[in-house]
Amino acid sequence: MASGQFWDMPIETGLVPPSETEFDCIVVGGGPGGSAAASYLAMEGKKVLLIEKGVWPRDKVCGDAVGGKSLGHVNALGVKAKLESTPHFRVTGIVFSSPNGSEVTVPLPEEDVERMEAGYSLPRQQFDWLVFERATELVLENGGSVIQGATVTQVFDTGGKITGVEIGIGGKRGEKRVYSAPWTIGAGGYQCPVARKIIKEMDNQELVDRMHYCGGYREYWDGVKGCEGNAGNIEIHFVDSIIPGYFWLFPLGNGRVNVGIGMVLGLMDKQKKKLKPLQAEVIANHPLFKDRFADAKMVDGTGKGWQLPFGSPRKGEKNQPRKAFAPGALLIGDAASLVDPFSGEGVGNALVSGEMAARHVIENKGGEAYQEELWAALGPELSNSFKMQKMSRRKWLLNWFVSKAGRRPVIQEMMTEMIASKEAQENLHSKWFLVKTLLF
Ligand SMILES: Cc1cc2nc3c(=O)[nH]c(=O)nc-3n(C[C@H](O)[C@H](O)[C@H](O)COP(=O)(O)OP(=O)(O)OC[C@H]3O[C@@H](n4cnc5c(N)ncnc54)[C@H](O)[C@@H]3O)c2cc1C
Repeated sequence: MASGQFWDMPIETGLVPPSETEFDCIVVGGGPGGSAAASYLAMEGKKVLLIEKGVWPRDKVCGDAVGGKSLGHVNALGVKAKLESTPHFRVTGIVFSSPNGSEVTVPLPEEDVERMEAGYSLPRQQFDWLVFERATELVLENGGSVIQGATVTQVFDTGGKITGVEIGIGGKRGEKRVYSAPWTIGAGGYQCPVARKIIKEMDNQELVDRMHYCGGYREYWDGVKGCEGNAGNIEIHFVDSIIPGYFWLFPLGNGRVNVGIGMVLGLMDKQKKKLKPLQAEVIANHPLFKDRFADAKMVDGTGKGWQLPFGSPRKGEKNQPRKAFAPGALLIGDAASLVDPFSGEGVGNALVSGEMAARHVIENKGGEAYQEELWAALGPELSNSFKMQKMSRRKWLLNWFVSKAGRRPVIQEMMTEMIASKEAQENLHSKWFLVKTLLF
């Protein structure tokens, strides 16, 4: 994937601070969530330690679609202009297809596309480079430290309060150093050591609930027909063999496409399916795709799998979608299981929760208040998306809905509105609205 562009270059993060250094807040993980939290804290003058296991430039398995929700934060963090000066694909609409091959194109709201607030797709290597580099700049300017290539190997607690971490430089077995802070933010993604500490060790619960986790597999391809240009539609296909789940084609510009597939882990187990062969089969044989891929070429080494911790509400859990705090610690992004259970988007919620957690650390409020605000802000849309995910498990319903939508502009308008405004998704669960819109 190296292109000789600045986002393929290393990021200079400075010296690793001596062991026992104290900070105002430790942030574990330098993805979008951790970089945002560290940046917001540093902007308020806090002395932050940002720790990242990877070394830039680094890839992250993703669909690479960055929705409108992310762009406000990208702006507030001061990276929007730089991001827009780099190559990206501007999303103007979404194509949906159903198992029987019906298709509908839902344009994104024109005003949003005009204002460039609708969304982009661009490789996460590029996006994450930009937000991590900005976080590094802000953290260092405000007296903090940034470490890359260091794995958090232990999270310490004293009498039930999280007080600091141990790192291994260059990996788990590398040289050990320890740091402390009154607050630690867990932003280490689906394998976050702070989430493991809170949920497994302190609360004695399972971290991975396979009915609320999704398996995802991604490849980069060049030359897929219908994916040319630097603006247009992204595509979500509910293919027969992948229900419940979907196959996506997200163009990245200049003829490169992110091609992937995702399914809820628990449902994949039941069907005994594996994502990589499933994707190969769809590309080679599916009537909607085999001609489009006939002259395309997969970019070597880009086929990778990962997990998406969904934000669907868990039955009987009082801290929805799952516990995201302990005394002295808050969880954000994938570490807090906040991926949209219908669309698979998680970057926006990682940024939203990163800002919220930083604010709670600054105001020194308790973790319960953070969890309450988090669910009040994201709960309604995550719950709606879970309902939509469950509806999408029914092939007949998908076939009927997509073919009807393909023929009726009023339904396409409703879908545009639902993508633009999460409140409008409520309509989908109003029986009267559905009867009125779908039947007449
Ligand atoms: C196949 C797939 C497709 C997806 N498609 C989309 C999409 O199109 N749009 C979208 O919005 N979202 C998508 N997502 C979800 C999105 O990738 C995540 O929700 C998002 O990356 C979450 O950001 P985060 O900062 O919470 O975690 P991450 O991006 O996972 O970052 C966590 C960071 O923590 C570091 N880390 C982990 N453990 C340690 C440790 N022990 N010590 C130090 N550092 C550590 C990691 O190296 C990593 O850099 C997709 C996910 C997958 C798997």
